Amino acid sequence: MKNNINNISWGNGIYLIFPHIIPDGDTLGSAIGLKNFLKSRGNEVYVVYEGEIPYNITFLDYSDFYTIEEFESKKISYDYIVSVDGSDLERMGTRRKFLKDAKKLYNIDHHRTNLNFGDINLVDIEAAATGEIIFRILDQFDYEFTKKDLEAIYTAISTDTGSFKYTNTTSETMNIAGRLIDMGLDLEKVNLNLYHNVPLKKMKITAELINNMSMYSNDRLCVVKMTQAILEKHEAKFSEVDGVIESVRDINGVSVVALLKEFDSEEIKVSMRSKGEVDVSEIALGFDGGGHSKAAGCMIKGSINSAEKLIVDRILEAM
Ligand code: 5GP
Ligand code: MN
Repeated sequence: MKNNINNISWGNGIYLIFPHIIPDGDTLGSAIGLKNFLKSRGNEVYVVYEGEIPYNITFLDYSDFYTIEEFESKKISYDYIVSVDGSDLERMGTRRKFLKDAKKLYNIDHHRTNLNFGDINLVDIEAAATGEIIFRILDQFDYEFTKKDLEAIYTAISTDTGSFKYTNTTSETMNIAGRLIDMGLDLEKVNLNLYHNVPLKKMKITAELINNMSMYSNDRLCVVKMTQAILEKHEAKFSEVDGVIESVRDINGVSVVALLKEFDSEEIKVSMRSKGEVDVSEIALGFDGGGHSKAAGCMIKGSINSAEKLIVDRILEAM
C-alpha cells in the first residue's frame, strides 16, 4: 500500500526501528528522531542496529539502541517494525528474521529504487534524505523537538546532501534546516563533529588509495579499492574511513567513481558516485543493490579483482 504523510496511522504498542545495514548519518539520525517521537506518544521503542557506526556520527545520542544480540537477550515481544532509509528487505540484513512476529511493517524511505516492501510505505523520492520525511512527520504532530532530535535530523539531512551541495538539495531541504536552526540547533557543534573531525589514518588511507587508483575512459571513471591489507597496514576499521569516496569524486574531470570495499575475500561492497549523466542507481540495481541516481551501492560476491572487472565493464557501458 502506498501512503502519504497525512494518512499514515501510528499504532500504539511496542516498536522496533531498523536503520539499514552499514548504517550512515541519514538512517541513524532518522531512527533517533522517530524513536523519540514514538516514545513521546507513549510507545515502547527499541532501535535494533546492525554494523558499526561511522566515526563522525558517533556523537549522536544512542540511548535505546541495541545490537541484535543485546535485543534478543531481552526476550521482548513487539508489535511494529519500522525500516528507515532502506530501499529493500536486504537492507535489514539478519534482522529480517524478526519480521514474522510483527503485526505491521512500516517502510519510510526516499530511494527511487524502493521496492515498497512494507504494509505501510511512506516513500518520497523527492525528499533529499529520509530525515526530511521524519522531520515532516514530527512537525505534523506539533512534536516538541529536543536538542538531540535537532542534531539527529540535521545530521541525517546534512550527510545525505553532502552538506547541502548535492543535486537532491531543494528549497524544502533548506527550509527544514532553517527551522532546525530556529529551534535551537547547535550548528557549530554538529558541523565540527561531522566534517572537521577526520582521523589522520583516514587521510593517509585516502592519499594511498588515490595514489593507486585505476582510471578509465580518459580519466572520467576512477576505481579505488579498500582492501583488508590497507586497513591492516593502518590499523583501521571500515567505520573509521567512511566517506573516502567523496574525496575521489571531487577530482576535476571525474564523472563516475566506484569504491570497492573488501569486507572479506569473497564479499565486496561497492559504492558508486556520479557527477555527470550516468545514473549509478541503475548500475547498482543490476547487481541487486540500489540507491539514488548520483549515489548508489551493491554487494558483489567474489574477489575484489573480479568485482572490479564486473563493475567497470557495466559502468563503461553506461558511459
Ligand atoms: P553508500 O555508497 O554511501 O554506501 O550508499 C549510497 C546510497 O546507496 C545510499 O543511499 C545507500 O542507502 C544506497 N545503497 C548502498 N549500498 C546499497 C545496497 O547494497 N543495496 C541498496 N538497496 N542500496 C544501497
Ligand atoms: Mn538516505
